[in-house]
Amino acid sequence: MGSKATMDKIVSLCRRRGFIFQSSEIYGGLNGAYDYGPMGVELKNNIRDFWWKEMTQLHDNIVGLDASILMHSKVWEASGHVSNFTDPMVDCKQCKSRFRADQIDLSAPCPVCGSNGTFTEPRNFNLMFQTHIGPSMDSASTIYLRPETAQGIYVDFKNVLQSSRVKIPFGIAQIGKSFRNEITTKSFIFRSCEFEQMEMQFFCKPGTEDEWFPYWREERMKFYHKMGIDPQSLRWHQHGPDELAFYAKDAYDIQFLFPMGWQELEGVHSRTDYDLTQHQNFSKKDMTYLDPETNERYIPYVVETSAGLTRNVLMALSDAYDEEETPEGDVRTVLHFHPQIAPVTVAVLPLVKKDGLAEYAAKLEKNLRADYKTFYDQSGAIGRRYRRMDEIGTPYCVTVDYQTLEDGSVTLRYRDSMEQVRVDASKLSAFIKEANDSYKRV
Ligand code: ATP
Repeated sequence: MGSKATMDKIVSLCRRRGFIFQSSEIYGGLNGAYDYGPMGVELKNNIRDFWWKEMTQLHDNIVGLDASILMHSKVWEASGHVSNFTDPMVDCKQCKSRFRADQIDLSAPCPVCGSNGTFTEPRNFNLMFQTHIGPSMDSASTIYLRPETAQGIYVDFKNVLQSSRVKIPFGIAQIGKSFRNEITTKSFIFRSCEFEQMEMQFFCKPGTEDEWFPYWREERMKFYHKMGIDPQSLRWHQHGPDELAFYAKDAYDIQFLFPMGWQELEGVHSRTDYDLTQHQNFSKKDMTYLDPETNERYIPYVVETSAGLTRNVLMALSDAYDEEETPEGDVRTVLHFHPQIAPVTVAVLPLVKKDGLAEYAAKLEKNLRADYKTFYDQSGAIGRRYRRMDEIGTPYCVTVDYQTLEDGSVTLRYRDSMEQVRVDASKLSAFIKEANDSYKRV
C-alpha cells in the first residue's frame, strides 16, 4: 500500500471520480449504505468475476448457487442467528451516542462527549433486519434479510447434490447481498449495513477436514497475491478460544492492513457438521450423504471461505492508492490496480481534436472495445488527461498524434512507470494482452 493512503483521501477520491457515493446523499445520507458509481461498479464487478472464476472455473468440483435473500424464518432459528447473532451495545446517557461494548473501554470517559460514568449497562442487540412477508404483520409473517449468504448454501445442499453430478468432496460458491443492522458503521464501506459477500462452503468427509482446512487457507491467500495485492499487507490471524464459535473446530482470518490498521478481510473456518445437523433437526429432512464407494452415510463436514466483496473493494482501493512526486516536481495521485481489476483498461486520447486525429482515435477506441474496457477522452491538455486516468487506475493510455497519421503507430503510456513506447496501432490489442499477462507492479 502506498504510505500516503488515508481513509479521508480514499473517501474523497471515491466521490470525486465516481467510485462510491453515500446512499441518499441529497437527503442527508443514510448511515451504513453506499452506492457504487460508474467506476466503483466496474471495480466491484471485476473483483466479483475474478473470485467467481477462481472458485468455480479454476477449481474442480465447485458449483455455483444464487439463493434468494429472503428465506424461511426457521432457517435463522436453526442456524442460531435468531438467538445468538447479537452484539453488546451501550449508550452514553449524556450525549446519546451508541457504541459496541466490545469496541470501547467502558471504564474510560465517553469517546464522543468525554463524560465519565455515563454508559448504560451493555445489552444484546440482534443484528438481523426484520421485515414481514405478505399483508399481515403478525409473528407468523416475520422474515429476515439474510445476514450471510452461507445459510442459503446449506439449505440447498441436498438440491444441489441431487441435481448435479457432484460427489464429496465438493463445494458450493455464492456471491450476494447480506444485511446487518450494525451498531457502529464506520470506516467507510469497511462495515456497512448492506454489503456483499463471496462465500464458498466445501463439503468433505468427516476426518478429512484437517486436510482441506490448510488447503483452502493456502488457496485463499494465493488468490489475493494473484489479484496483485501487496503480500506485506496481508497476514493470518487465528481465532483464540474466546473468539471461536462453540461449534467451530478452528478458524483463521485473513487480515489486511487497511488505513485504520490490520482488520479482517476474509474468514476461513472449519465448521464441522454443525449447520447441516441443525437444518436436519429443524427441518426434519435428511441431510446425510451416501458415499457411493464405501456405502457409508454421514453428514459432511464443512470448510468455509467467507470474504466480503465490498470490503475487498476497500482493500483494492487502499492497496492501490498512492501519491507520487513526478519528474516535473508535482504530485500525482494514482491507483495502481492490477489490470485485471482496473475499471478501465485502456484510454484512447487524440493529442488534439483537429486534423483527423479525433476521428482516428475514436475508431481505434471502438476497435478495442471487444477486448477491453475502454475510455475515450479528447478534452483538456494531454497531461491533465493522463492524470485523470491515473486517478481511476487505468493501466494504459494510448495517444494518437501526427506521427500516427504517417506510420500508423501510437504512443502507449504505462500508468505505473509513466514510460512511453511507440506501438503499431494494428497490434495494440495483442500488445496490451501481453502487458497484462506479464504485469508486475513497480
Ligand atoms: P465482525 O466480527 O467484524 O462483525 P464477522 O467476523 O462477524 O465480522 P463474518 O460473519 O465472518 O464477519 O463475515 C465474513 C466476511 O464478510 C467478513 O470477513 C467481511 O469481509 C464481510 N463482512 C461482515 N460484516 C460486514 C459488514 N458489516 N460490512 C462489510 N463487510 C462485512
